[in-house]
Amino acid sequence: MSETYSTEQPLDLLIAGGGMAGSLLAYVLLCQNPALKLAIVEQSSDKEPSKASFDSRSIALAHGSVELLKQWGLWQDLQQSGCAIEHIHISDRGHFGKTYLNAADHQLSALGQVIEVEAIGEVLWQKLKAFTAQGRLSWFYSDAINALNPTAELQHISLQSGAQLQSKLLVIAEGGLSPSRALAGFELKSDDYQQHALIANIGLAQSHQHKAFERFTPTGPLALLPLTRQRYSLVWTLTPEQAAHHLIQPEPEFLAALQQAAGHRAGVFKTVGQRVVYPLSLKRATEASRHRTVLLGNSLHNLHPIAGQGFNLAIRDIFSLSLLLQKHQADAGCYPLIKAYQQARLPDMQQVILYTDSLVRLFSNSSRLMALGRNTGLFALNLCPDLKQAVANQAMGLNSIRQLKALLS
Ligand SMILES: Cc1cc2nc3c(=O)[nH]c(=O)nc-3n(C[C@H](O)[C@H](O)[C@H](O)COP(=O)(O)OP(=O)(O)OC[C@H]3O[C@@H](n4cnc5c(N)ncnc54)[C@H](O)[C@@H]3O)c2cc1C
Repeated sequence: MSETYSTEQPLDLLIAGGGMAGSLLAYVLLCQNPALKLAIVEQSSDKEPSKASFDSRSIALAHGSVELLKQWGLWQDLQQSGCAIEHIHISDRGHFGKTYLNAADHQLSALGQVIEVEAIGEVLWQKLKAFTAQGRLSWFYSDAINALNPTAELQHISLQSGAQLQSKLLVIAEGGLSPSRALAGFELKSDDYQQHALIANIGLAQSHQHKAFERFTPTGPLALLPLTRQRYSLVWTLTPEQAAHHLIQPEPEFLAALQQAAGHRAGVFKTVGQRVVYPLSLKRATEASRHRTVLLGNSLHNLHPIAGQGFNLAIRDIFSLSLLLQKHQADAGCYPLIKAYQQARLPDMQQVILYTDSLVRLFSNSSRLMALGRNTGLFALNLCPDLKQAVANQAMGLNSIRQLKALLS
């Protein structure tokens, strides 16, 4: 049971899930509006960043996301843990197609940043601890939503612990397996890629010079993202059987297999850190909001990690909600906010899903015809600056943020 929440007055917002998306939303909204009454329900029992969300992964943050984190006063504390991506090299193993994206071509010092999610968790945790101490944020740990009873003015929420809460808006940020999403009546579309991602940090014999590599191999795409302390963050897409094999392979054999798959352009791999495997699927809700309820982060869209778009999309979910809550401070769950959130999030989400899903399917196919098609595509990207600009814009997330500002401000 929470120490600070009093049931006398309804909350403005209840966030279900205190992971990367839920915690960041709480921080942004509490900075924006000192009068906001906010609580988080988190199923894990640790009174520290949820290990279920802030695990050993690293993620790529697009340039546009870094700009938002700066605006929200977080990047100042995060930047020492971030590593700039200055160049992206995209290639197809065993074929001629290659393309390069360079930050300098877009008058930028970096196309994005790579950061360990534990570092994000630590910084966010310190900020949220201060709000909790001031009595502005209540936590319900080791708890979860049991039942929802919406009325015209409020969501009435029963928790498994027996606590009864009322909130003007419920934000579901419970990740891809969210049980409350179905309780609230959202429908989900799901496709299993039959692929697993093996992730690990790879120590290098030499500097990575801030280059990211995206390589398409017969088992699926492989990404190496530059990380601090002369390391790469690896996302290696494999069949479930291959992933299980490489997970327990002795270090020298693992490094040799990875070197063969990635080639030598990315440098010589020296060490591998903890290896973790994630099954890959595409899950997306058919609606972003319903009566007094919105979906956020992976509860709304759970993507293949290869294009590094999932959390970037979640940051834009948060940006949209923050703009809308500035407009609708009196009633956080009012119909115009619910409607505008849906209108803002679905097109952005569908565009990113189309881009990511097409990349996965096109580059996971070993047929010679498909290989010719994608190599011609990579070749054409080099010849056509407009096309290349469109790919770079997607990677940097700039257009989407501009569009959201225009739509919601
Ligand atoms: C291998 C890999 C690499 C990735 N790389 C990138 C990248 O480079 N760039 C990028 O932008 N994105 C990337 N992503 C995606 C990114 O990690 C996700 O978008 C992000 O983790 C989503 O955060 P979330 O808070 O929505 O969900 P989660 O991280 O799943 O957090 C959900 C939280 O809700 C809690 N919870 C669950 N159920 C309940 C319940 N019933 N009640 C209360 N609490 C509950 C959990 O304990 C957890 O704290 C990657 C993902 C993977 C798997």
